[in-house]
Amino acid sequence: METPENKFKFLTEQFDDIRILRYQVPTFEKLTLKEKLFVYYLSQAALAGRDILWDQNNVHNLAVRKVLEQILREYPGDRTADEFQCFLVYAKKVFFANGIHHHYSMDKFVPGFSKAYFRELLTAIGREDRYDRLERVLFDPDYMSKRVVSEEGKDLIQASANNYYVGVTQPEAEAFYRAESRKSETPLSWGLNSTLVKENGRLQELVWKIGGKYGKPLAQVVECLEKAIPYACNERQQQVIRLLIEYYRTGDLALFDRYSIEWLQEDQAPVDFINGFIEVYGDPLAYKGSWESVVEIVDQEACERTRRLAEQAWWFEQHAPIRPEFKKSMVKGVTARVMQVAMLGGDCHPATPIGINLPNAEWIREQYGSKSVTLDNITYAYDMAAKSSGVIDEFAASEEEIRLAREWGTIGSNVHTDLHECLGHGSGRLLPGVTTEALRNYYSTIEEARADLFALYYVMDPKLVELGILPSLEVAKAEYNSYIRNGLMVQLTRIKFGDQLEESHMRNRQMIAAWVYEKGKSARVIEKIKKGEKTYFVIRDFEALRTLFGQLLGEVQRIKSEGDFEAARCLVENYGVKIDPELHREVLVRYKALGVAPYAGFINPAYQLVVRDGEVIDVTITYPEDFLQQMLEYGAERE
Ligand code: ZN
Repeated sequence: METPENKFKFLTEQFDDIRILRYQVPTFEKLTLKEKLFVYYLSQAALAGRDILWDQNNVHNLAVRKVLEQILREYPGDRTADEFQCFLVYAKKVFFANGIHHHYSMDKFVPGFSKAYFRELLTAIGREDRYDRLERVLFDPDYMSKRVVSEEGKDLIQASANNYYVGVTQPEAEAFYRAESRKSETPLSWGLNSTLVKENGRLQELVWKIGGKYGKPLAQVVECLEKAIPYACNERQQQVIRLLIEYYRTGDLALFDRYSIEWLQEDQAPVDFINGFIEVYGDPLAYKGSWESVVEIVDQEACERTRRLAEQAWWFEQHAPIRPEFKKSMVKGVTARVMQVAMLGGDCHPATPIGINLPNAEWIREQYGSKSVTLDNITYAYDMAAKSSGVIDEFAASEEEIRLAREWGTIGSNVHTDLHECLGHGSGRLLPGVTTEALRNYYSTIEEARADLFALYYVMDPKLVELGILPSLEVAKAEYNSYIRNGLMVQLTRIKFGDQLEESHMRNRQMIAAWVYEKGKSARVIEKIKKGEKTYFVIRDFEALRTLFGQLLGEVQRIKSEGDFEAARCLVENYGVKIDPELHREVLVRYKALGVAPYAGFINPAYQLVVRDGEVIDVTITYPEDFLQQMLEYGAERE
């Protein structure tokens, strides 16, 4: 990967509450021509289904997008005018959200320009005829105000502005799918790939398939997938693609399950992909899958790191600071697949996940397991953007702390994640008769804390330098600083003033940081200092801090092994839930002053075939910088 000194521009622009970033794909250059071509055609397939998602999100989205695109291409008037700038921000927000509703809050966007100005823009491009249809869509705040509504007491289907159900009420939809889900050990994902409509009083599914609803974009997806088949990495992967194509042709959900099983068992190929109707967050009843795609390339170097850790799982278990009766006698580490994203499409673009664990069907997970990947070039891009956002400089206590973060922060957090995922969660054992249910609502916070503490304890172990995983224990210092800074301050920027911590990862981080801070107070392990109005936490003794992490690991493992609910409750409630209001207010003020937008998404790279004498001799990758330009190109390709 690139070094921090490298000039690659990770953050390209910011508008409203959105930051636009770019990611790099260094592994692409190392592929063979055949593998590059595979990436190329899978990427085309990833982009070909974009319009499906837009229509799924709202019935008016494509009509809105078409006029936004035309105005951006053709408007001859003054583009420096304030109102045009407002129009530009609105258009970018719509492109980012794949529609007229915010991708996260689900609220409809409010244009910053007037109705009269909108009419003027339409007239200027000769599309005044669109005004009547779009006026309400853009300007009436009560019309289709929220994409997904999940408040109890409402008809969630009627209240939600998504396009998965037409003329159907919530009770009707629920009854329809209850009847569909006959008792089966291996139930199909009923409703996943169809629009449910009521016509002439009768409920009917319009299936998303070639020749059915979304037939045209699906045919384009299939065309690209067919071109990809000859370049697949192995025979099994060819079979995976053929099953997917058959599923797109027939809409048969049994084929989707067969495809999913084949896909999860294929774990050798250096290039992998996701393409389909997958996640159901866009439907308040969680039946309908939004269309998405990701193309990924394996990061051999990072996989090698997790393989070396997994190999040593027994050593780590033996040396953990936990009581012998809570240790596993046999232990097997998990090798995580670390991948780099090569292309994002549909519901994974521009906003994207940083890890993927599929398939979603519960019975497949139970019988066949799942495939879990982390997307490390995305995490890396976030990290690099954070370095220039000013957040570290604002909350780090000294120049030395900033230097450590810049030099070692990325590798520190990567190794922390490896230790957490590959060894932490799998370590330790329950005493006979104890189940994980014993800790009830505190279980996930305690479990995350256990994996984090395992990572924190070992990231400072000379063994990691010996194994060649860390260049030096300076990395551990950067990781400790970052963990304390985040756990006690930075993560509070995501919480509204007056609220408490609810989410288990956030609870666990504050719990650990606050516990070691308090226990090490008399020995000045971590000191809370003030410079003017600003609070900082400074680690004075890293070795002593490691010992404290070890002590808490021992205790948290005891709590889990014995199922000690009362101790879990005390630990979480005393350290992980409440926020000091004075500190919280201060942190929010300091963060706001930095002007960092809370949401981020990505511009995709672009791939191009290099042809000589009618033969493809290479595929090149470039990194466009203009978000709007990319959005216009994606729109134009599907005309
Ligand atoms: Zn975890």
